Amino acid sequence: MKADFTRKLLQWNKESNTRSMPWKGERDPYKIWLSEIILQQTRVEQGLAYYHKFIENFPTVHDLANAPEQEVFKCWEGLGYYSRCKNLIASAKKISQELKGVFPSTYDTIKELKGIGPYTAAAISSFAFNENRAVVDGNVQRVISRYFGISTPIDTTAGKKLYQELAQALIDPSQPAIYNQAIMDFGAVICKPQLPLCATCIQNPECEAYKHNLVKQLPVKEKTLVKSTRWLYYFIIVSEGCMYIRQRTGRDIWENLHEFVLLEAEGPIDTAFQDLPFLKDLLHDNPFTVQHISKMYKQQLTHQTINGQFITVHASKPLPDNSGYFSVAQAQLAAYPFPKFINMYLQETSSPARLF
Ligand code: SF4
Repeated sequence: MKADFTRKLLQWNKESNTRSMPWKGERDPYKIWLSEIILQQTRVEQGLAYYHKFIENFPTVHDLANAPEQEVFKCWEGLGYYSRCKNLIASAKKISQELKGVFPSTYDTIKELKGIGPYTAAAISSFAFNENRAVVDGNVQRVISRYFGISTPIDTTAGKKLYQELAQALIDPSQPAIYNQAIMDFGAVICKPQLPLCATCIQNPECEAYKHNLVKQLPVKEKTLVKSTRWLYYFIIVSEGCMYIRQRTGRDIWENLHEFVLLEAEGPIDTAFQDLPFLKDLLHDNPFTVQHISKMYKQQLTHQTINGQFITVHASKPLPDNSGYFSVAQAQLAAYPFPKFINMYLQETSSPARLF
């Protein structure tokens, strides 16, 4: 059954797989690495433009390692999961400086790089170096779970081990790169999460899920995502022609990106902003006026719903040096990477007068 699966998958790949992607067949580990990191948690359609932007701006690992971090984050702006970008920079520096620009060439050494897990290490080692390592991502787990009729949840320790072992047993050792790309493509275009193309699928005579009408039930997930709701109020404090921002730190969303003065509230704020103790404390009781209050903005992240508003405040005096924020002129603002949530506001606020 395993040999049938592999043979038919490769047959489908040779005769019918028309899925094209710019990095398909790519052998340069640097480009493969970039594409894989960008595509973690990101749809191909969205990731494509970022991939091209990165290759254009940082053609080699040395270019990426030597670029100012702010410039790299600016390029990443809008992709989300910013720890990926932070790890990308750290790994580029390691390859460029410690490894003298030579990309590690085995699964085990690739996995030592920051931000690289088993899936990415298998992808790079097989695509760039033809190492016999099976990639296992959501696509691969789904195909295997359905074809073999396995109901072990894919997000448990036992499940991960089982799918990893099966995937490794299925790979064609004489052509691991082609096999890995084929199974991922097959999961993306034939054995899709919703409405898989079972009726015309080459695997359907042997597929357990198809034969037993279990396609909709497989694969099984144990945990359902717990989502939280957050309320972020951003104050655009304007004083002497400048406004105040800071870089986000800590292990939270949007790490390393920039933001205006933030008040995170437990729920919607119903006090008049002018009367908020937060503002009075921040401005040391110096006079200020609330100039503009934006509409409510909303962004859905994987685990969180972000709600919030932008409040423009004219302050009679600058913020004290120990406020944790620094001042920038409006013309400089575009040089800083911001999360999409803030960019939605900045892009809609086309008039500088409105922003200030
Ligand atoms: S028959 Fe359907 S469920 Fe089975 S492998 Fe093909 S597309 Fe997937």
